[in-house]
Amino acid sequence: MKVIKMPAGVYAANCYLVYEENNREAIIIDPGGDADDIIAKVEELGLDAKYIILTHGHGDHIAGVEAIKDRFNIPVAIHKKDKDILEDSDRNFSSTMAMGAVEVVADILLEEGDRIEFGGLIGKIIHTPGHTPGGITINIENCLFTGDTLFAGSIGRTDFPGGSFEDIINSIKDKLLIYPDETLVYPGHGVSSTIKGEKDNNPFLK
Ligand SMILES: [Zn+2]
Ligand SMILES: [Zn+2]
Repeated sequence: MKVIKMPAGVYAANCYLVYEENNREAIIIDPGGDADDIIAKVEELGLDAKYIILTHGHGDHIAGVEAIKDRFNIPVAIHKKDKDILEDSDRNFSSTMAMGAVEVVADILLEEGDRIEFGGLIGKIIHTPGHTPGGITINIENCLFTGDTLFAGSIGRTDFPGGSFEDIINSIKDKLLIYPDETLVYPGHGVSSTIKGEKDNNPFLK
């Protein structure tokens, strides 16, 4: 399994291409903009993109979705509790962001425990609310793609409508910190980390 990180869009949300090297089947996590660059990378690597998976519905993670979906004709998946945010440019804040209004209708509504299979890999869906009601973390092998739930040394904002500080802390402590220390953390913004790194250094998790 290989992971390519591409900070995308004006807010530099991390888009991840995750693929199996033998058969090139891939998923695209959070294409937040720069769709042309992401499409070019998929083609350069010879990937067979299967799904777009969104960690949550905010504008900075979804602005590249439509163009990539059209190019590869693949379904978009999001947790069912972020469906409404994804479909409403005011609620996903894109109407007031630099990219302009983005409204996307998801093809697949996810819930806790769902599994998305591609190329022999399994993306396990972990519902991690707090930043948004339908925020998810995706577990693939020894990696966690945490969106705006958990960052290296920080956590996502919880002051938006539907956000909850209590929920985000519980999500992280009960559902993410239970993974082995060496598990890699790939957040929605900024640098990567490990579960041990966050246990030791994240001031919100003391
Ligand atoms: Zn967000
Ligand atoms: Zn974000």
